Amino acid sequence: MTFCNAKADLFIPDQSDQNQAFARVTHLGIVSHQDDLEIAAYHGITECFRREDKWFGGVVVTNGSGSPRKGSYANFTDEEMMEVRKHEQRKAAFVGEYSVMVQLGYPSDEVKTSNKADVVADIFHILKQTQPQFVYLHNPADRHDTHVATFLRCLEALRSLPKQARPQKVYGCEVWRKLDWLLTEDKVMLWVDQYPHLIGALLSVFDSQISGGKRYDLAEEGIRRANATYFDSHTTDNTSALTFAMDLTPLIQDDALNPENFTVEFVDRLKNDIKDRMRKFA
Ligand SMILES: [Zn+2]
Repeated sequence: MTFCNAKADLFIPDQSDQNQAFARVTHLGIVSHQDDLEIAAYHGITECFRREDKWFGGVVVTNGSGSPRKGSYANFTDEEMMEVRKHEQRKAAFVGEYSVMVQLGYPSDEVKTSNKADVVADIFHILKQTQPQFVYLHNPADRHDTHVATFLRCLEALRSLPKQARPQKVYGCEVWRKLDWLLTEDKVMLWVDQYPHLIGALLSVFDSQISGGKRYDLAEEGIRRANATYFDSHTTDNTSALTFAMDLTPLIQDDALNPENFTVEFVDRLKNDIKDRMRKFA
């Protein structure tokens, strides 16, 4: 497969034929940075792990050049850091047994402003080759600029697909803004308790990000447990690990639906919920 960006990196962990590896993907995650997949699209990874009939495909859009660096990485140049992060992402794809791992390698600015068309074209190409049933994206209310820009590029690519080739479900997932503010009935609950040891194994390969002191591995395990416990105050936990997502499927069913209005409507629903509960007991 050729990409608009000549620096794109394709890795097929089990060395299958390239066309086959793309075609067998059922669950596809498309995110901004190395290690975002293992946080945002973890549900897709666990759904496909050790399965013959389901395969996870991963896409990371940016090149990791702006990554924070501490400890033994403190003096690394942008070029060196890009290599480290690319290698770490390949390791995660190997541990998680992904079907394909594509690192498109765009600088963040190109995704946000200067090269949108190429980014959309590359994402579209991958979607066309994989035609996944489930797609995991950043949620549009995330507070990282690049995540929001990546979400918008993905939506454009998805809307360029003919209707019959579009996925069944598109999930907006958590990284830098969690989705606890969604009303219970608006939350998609994704159970992620199948392989409790996998989250730590996947995130631990991103040594350059964790060894600086940010324990994403512990934080991500903790938040999934907390979600399961706090989801419902009246019942005992049915699952020990839960991820929340926003259902973005309406945005690919109706191309006229404005993503900004769609997202802000959920905020209005939260506002009304708070008002109504307080007024009941005032
Ligand atoms: Zn990110």
